Amino acid sequence: MLQSKEIKQLLLEIATMIVDSEDELSRLDGVIGDGDHGISMKRGALKGIEVLNEMSDDEPINEYFKNYGWSLVRVMGGAMGPLVGIIFTEFGKACKDQDSFGATEFVNAIKGSTMKVQEFGGARLGDKTMVDAMIPTMEASKESLDSGDDFNTVLEKSHQAALQGVENTVELMARKGRSKWLREKSIGHPDAGATSYSKIIGKIKEFVIEG
Ligand code: ADP
Ligand code: MG
Repeated sequence: MLQSKEIKQLLLEIATMIVDSEDELSRLDGVIGDGDHGISMKRGALKGIEVLNEMSDDEPINEYFKNYGWSLVRVMGGAMGPLVGIIFTEFGKACKDQDSFGATEFVNAIKGSTMKVQEFGGARLGDKTMVDAMIPTMEASKESLDSGDDFNTVLEKSHQAALQGVENTVELMARKGRSKWLREKSIGHPDAGATSYSKIIGKIKEFVIEG
């Protein structure tokens, strides 16, 4: 179970990981899209770090997620700003009025993010987007929690599912907002947004399990 100070630390570590992944994420987006995914994710993460550092260590836990999400929406722009921002604002909603964040909050957060991203962005399973990593993660996390697994195991299974979701995007053809030529070119490469999502889930797992 994570408390206020740890949520702040977790988000700072996620943001740092995103900054460090800039080249990898832009390279993936370069094959399929316009090559700016790493740049916009980094811009969001740097703003997020700034906003988190202005917060004290004992705020209500949902406030860290909410502020982090909104800083991404504000500075990333485009279609992806709101979509990546939603991931974190939904994490905030899942732990509103709670003083710690554990398996139940995690599973509800994943579900909220997945539903809202689909509702807002309109992508479905198989469109070769972030959603292809989100849906398997949502299903695996729920199944794990329902079967009585502890938080660490829920996180391990969720991360495995996210990685599998990324793997599934390799053979898919991009269908959302990309030119026909790029769509065909997209086959054989993993999706950048799905990769980012799996990295975020991986960081949460690492933070909780390794402390
Ligand atoms: P842009 O497409 O504006 O250049 P980015 O390069 O930052 O934005 O992000 C690209 C990623 O956005 C893709 O790899 C894909 O995962 C994700 N994406 C694009 N459209 C959608 C959508 N409608 N729903 C969910 N994810 C999407
Ligand atoms: Mg792009």
